[in-house]
Amino acid sequence: MNKLSTQLIHHPYKPPEGFEAVAPGVHKASTVIFPNVHALRTYDWKDKSGYTYGLHGTPTTFTLEERIATLEGGTHCVLAPSGLAAVALVDMAFLRTGDELLIPDNAYGPGKTFAAGELESWGITHRFYDAMDPADLAAKISPATRLVWLEAPGSITLEFPDVPALVAVVRQASQGRERPIVTALDNTWGAGIAFAPFELGVDLSVQALTKYPSGGADVLMGSVVSRDEALHRTVLLCHMRLGLNIGVNDAELVLRGLHTIDLRYRAQDAATRELAAWMQQQPGIAQVFHPALPGSPGHAHWQRDARAAGCLFSAAFDAAISQERIDAFCDALKLFKLGWSWAGPISLCAPYRVPSIRSLGWPHAGGLVRFAIGLEHVEDLRADLAQALPRLQS
Ligand SMILES: *Cc1c(COP(=O)(O)O)cnc(C)c1O
Repeated sequence: MNKLSTQLIHHPYKPPEGFEAVAPGVHKASTVIFPNVHALRTYDWKDKSGYTYGLHGTPTTFTLEERIATLEGGTHCVLAPSGLAAVALVDMAFLRTGDELLIPDNAYGPGKTFAAGELESWGITHRFYDAMDPADLAAKISPATRLVWLEAPGSITLEFPDVPALVAVVRQASQGRERPIVTALDNTWGAGIAFAPFELGVDLSVQALTKYPSGGADVLMGSVVSRDEALHRTVLLCHMRLGLNIGVNDAELVLRGLHTIDLRYRAQDAATRELAAWMQQQPGIAQVFHPALPGSPGHAHWQRDARAAGCLFSAAFDAAISQERIDAFCDALKLFKLGWSWAGPISLCAPYRVPSIRSLGWPHAGGLVRFAIGLEHVEDLRADLAQALPRLQS
């Protein structure tokens, strides 16, 4: 070993063991080195008993998986490159040609687009159900139904469904089937903090870690958590076959975000409740949607099943207020920025035309804006809304 390059690559120095710090170590690898051939032949990454290849886990990704499983009250976690990739992973893991997928009509939009744009071409059909009507779900389950998505509350319009009732409908319909129907909840809003998804009976809990766990609006990641070994294996094997990977620097950011998620969630929750209640009193507002507001759809379900309410509220405007006025209001906001995603430090807003994203109809004639409350002071946010509201009235 007297040639410099070999000496540097195969350097004999090993730092002392036993280093401990607040942040878990960031281990980078495609290649993982085995101690001998026996290890290379026998190590199994599936039960986390050994390391085999960067794609199949490092100490950093295993640590993040364990912490996300704890956050959600589950036992197993699989990480995906984005929240949407986690949704698509669950679809691909459980659905085969001839199967049918049921999706809430108020579900996260790109998940619906995946079903229409990809699953349909593989001979996997999908239908939308009214998440606020368990009887509608019961009527739409057929012998082909294999997977039912749930989301609490719905995206954009924030109706809080009766999750235990929806799960009971699926269990009832599943009885006696060779392949039971799987339930998967998109738990991005609850984040493992607002309610315990597995205590409400779902099989899988999916999150966009992009939102609360990251908290920084600077990383994309998703997770699929379960409590059932067989379901976990199905997701894990599909994940392996697809070659899905998360960058270890992204894992580091989410591990850091998890230290403060509970504090951030509660701070954003408190500010959001205050602003949602205030907004409801303002002229031009037909209704504010926020699960903790009495009168918001599904408020009683939220009261029974949840203990926190997140950082989102949506305002439906009076039908007489034109889209042009609503857009002018959004443009006049200074602290609230225009942009997608939420649960980061900066408050955001985005106007939506709800009828165009719904298949089963929408009762309000006016436009809607969704607000995501960040970590700014609530008084400054209220003042910003107050200075922009006159734009609604021309
Ligand atoms: C943002 C979001 C996703 C997707 O997350 P990405 O990481 O942006 O792909 C999925 N579901 C819900 C409810 C979301 O809000």
